[in-house]
Amino acid sequence: MKPIFFVTKPIPDIGMNMLRAKGDVRISQTSGLPSDQEIAAAAADCCGLLITPADQITKTTLDQLPYLKAISTFSVGFNHIDIAECTRRGIGVGHTPDVLTAATAELAMALILAVARRVVEGDRLIRDRRWHGWAPTDFLGSPVTGKTLGIVGAGRIGGCVAKMAHGFDMPILYTARTAKPELERDFKAQRVELADLLQRADFVSIHAPLTDETRHMIGCPQLQMMRPTAFLINTSRGSLVDEAALVTALKDGIIAGCGLDVYEREPQLTPGLADFPNVVLLPHVGSATLETRGEMAVMAAENLLAAADGKRPPHCINPQIYS
Ligand code: NAP
Repeated sequence: MKPIFFVTKPIPDIGMNMLRAKGDVRISQTSGLPSDQEIAAAAADCCGLLITPADQITKTTLDQLPYLKAISTFSVGFNHIDIAECTRRGIGVGHTPDVLTAATAELAMALILAVARRVVEGDRLIRDRRWHGWAPTDFLGSPVTGKTLGIVGAGRIGGCVAKMAHGFDMPILYTARTAKPELERDFKAQRVELADLLQRADFVSIHAPLTDETRHMIGCPQLQMMRPTAFLINTSRGSLVDEAALVTALKDGIIAGCGLDVYEREPQLTPGLADFPNVVLLPHVGSATLETRGEMAVMAAENLLAAADGKRPPHCINPQIYS
């Protein structure tokens, strides 16, 4: 009998075709995001799930999926999956690291440039037909070149942002659980405590994963430590930032602005966030280039097919179940 795979959102054709070649593919019929109950009901007889970061896979969901052997997430982050529970049940979980690193780092740089040079504000001015011509004192922004960048979580993506920012002559501060000698050697990056980074950086860019430890790691006290001229950039996961505290900080001029690609309650927006001209908001598009999404599709399909076949996925989050 062919394996049945449940896909919550269709991925690029190259990946869908790989799955169709090996099994029956069922696609969620829910418009918008399927709830965990809808996933459980629609995938009850499936051996594999292909999900996105918007889908929550909890113990309750897993309880209703007795045939499940494989979960493949179309993302590098896996905070939306109860990994301990999957491991306990022998369900292999795969993700898509590396292929999205440069695309996501580019987007962090795009947000840095956009907030500093008021790119979106300028675009709106012109579209609204409010631009009356060049003037020496109009639209003054902050420079990026030579300004200090603080990278919170200097892994694959944070490291790539360091490399790009080095091209802008930006002194680099970083935090991570472990030292990164290659960043220190190649880009003169300096490892510091989070408080030190917040006090010294002109741009604070978040690249740590969402865990119990990192949830709300940027809240009111941390925002208070930032310079009033500094910008916060988040392309990691929304819940690393306490968005209510961020709105207050923006209202009170505690920081100069922010650029966000991710939100605490996607796709909902915390009230007030969209009211500031010095805030740039993107719809979680860090990895959204044609090439990157194609590579993610192949990787996600390979992970799902391997785990559904009882083999270790090439990019496995819980490899211990295969030893
Ligand atoms: P990664 O290589 O695992 O890097 C994560 C970094 O965070 C590591 O340097 C890690 O330290 C550090 N870290 C972990 N816990 C920390 C803590 N408590 N305090 C400070 N640093 C901590 O992951 P990645 O591939 O760069 O991806 C990072 C995140 O980006 C993902 O988890 C995902 O949520 C997000 N993402 C978003 C998009 C998007 O579309 N916006 C796209 C891709 C990824 P060590 O190196 O010492 O372990």
